Amino acid sequence: MTTAAILKHCYDITESYLKIDDRVTNNSTISIIKETQDLLISTKQIFLNEILPYWNPIKDNISISYNGGKDCQVLLIIYLACLYEYFYMAALNFNNLKLDTMNTFNNMNTTVKFALKAVYLRQENTFQIINEFIEESSKKYGLSLYKSNIGSMENSLKEYMIHEKWDCNYNTKQKAGIIIGIRRSDPYALNLKYIQQTDKNWPQFMRLQPLLDWKLRNVWSFLIYSNEPICKLYELGFTSLGGVNNTVRNLYLKKTKCNQNGDKCKDGTSTSSHLWNHFQWEFQHRFGSHNKDDHSEDMTIEDNSIDHEYLCNDTESYYPGWFLIDDEKERAGRTKRK
Ligand code: ATP
Repeated sequence: MTTAAILKHCYDITESYLKIDDRVTNNSTISIIKETQDLLISTKQIFLNEILPYWNPIKDNISISYNGGKDCQVLLIIYLACLYEYFYMAALNFNNLKLDTMNTFNNMNTTVKFALKAVYLRQENTFQIINEFIEESSKKYGLSLYKSNIGSMENSLKEYMIHEKWDCNYNTKQKAGIIIGIRRSDPYALNLKYIQQTDKNWPQFMRLQPLLDWKLRNVWSFLIYSNEPICKLYELGFTSLGGVNNTVRNLYLKKTKCNQNGDKCKDGTSTSSHLWNHFQWEFQHRFGSHNKDDHSEDMTIEDNSIDHEYLCNDTESYYPGWFLIDDEKERAGRTKRK
């Protein structure tokens, strides 16, 4: 795919999601979708009005921090969609062309060199499945991905900024910006702003964080609907991705007698302690596919020798990551392996 085609594809996903309407009859589904649509609109506005006029690939001063996780994948799709909208619409205004003249962007793409910069801060002992997903997906999305040496976040970021020849001093007027898929429910993230400078003792750049207000349920609704391949660990019961030494499947997703049907509990008790798939509608209406069955539980997992030892130690079955929509329990799998 050309860069233009990738951007257009992501733009089409976001537009399609925004057009999901009241045909959805299930109240809980429609309320998640409506909430996510509002968040999608405001995230797009942050990109279009507050980020891209100052930081963009043409100015060579923006990058996305990408580790293959669900949050940065959602943000990446929206970022690419906004690049399409921002540059395509700008070309339309300038040339006064009609909306359906798709050649505009394609022509523009041959004269403007986009380098979709991305950075992966390598950590020790990562799952091979994650590494492979990062490789495949960054190729697919046309990212020029810099993989740092293994080290602390600070050192890796410094290394990256030196690599990009970005000035990280306080006095620089136009600091580089790095897009980060952090959400308020992440550790120390409650009071963050959409755009803010890094703390004093860190390499100096602007943190661009337009996904802050999204909840777990919004991330899953959009990502499942997008029909994009996601990191396979989520299908195995992981809800947040770290290294092999500090990440296990989420215990709240363990199948028990009570929740084994994977459906809403019918005994009249509260559903909060029971797991079910809130995103059946999104699965059945995934972008680009119509009326497909719900494959949310039967996706096949490729064998992977390096991860095998870790993944096969767990003999119990787990529901996929998207069965959990309680933000407070999302990181329950990010602990020391016993
Ligand atoms: P998940 O929570 O499922 O792992 P995620 O990795 O996208 O999804 P977090 O782990 O909460 O989300 O991390 C927040 C954001 O910080 C990521 O979306 C990404 O932008 C950035 N980030 C975290 N770790 C790395 C890393 N090793 N390299 C590059 N960016 C990272």
